[in-house]
Amino acid sequence: MANYSFQDPDIPDGLVIESGNFTQLFPRTEILKGKQLTISGGNFTNVKKQPGWTVEGGNWTQVSRCSHLHPHLVKEGLPACPVECSHMTVKDEIVLDGQVIDTIYEYKDMTV
Ligand SMILES: [Zn+2]
Repeated sequence: MANYSFQDPDIPDGLVIESGNFTQLFPRTEILKGKQLTISGGNFTNVKKQPGWTVEGGNWTQVSRCSHLHPHLVKEGLPACPVECSHMTVKDEIVLDGQVIDTIYEYKDMTV
């Protein structure tokens, strides 16, 4: 299974893609534009389907990723989220004697 994550690979026109990782960083990223492809499987997370493609399978989830959950993706170009970003699902302040001594945050990738 080829791994083309975060790339726009130069693959031959007319190919039938049965597997491989083509996941992209941002939702609705356009790759392989202008190609006539048949796609029966593979990971196409955050890839925008193109008019010339016949899509019969694969994972086409569109997701906004949180850098708090994926710090390794910042070097790939994922913007570093602020502490209270749009992915924050829980903000829990730990109070001791009336003073906030810590804050617990939880984050979740958002399907878009
Ligand atoms: Zn975030």
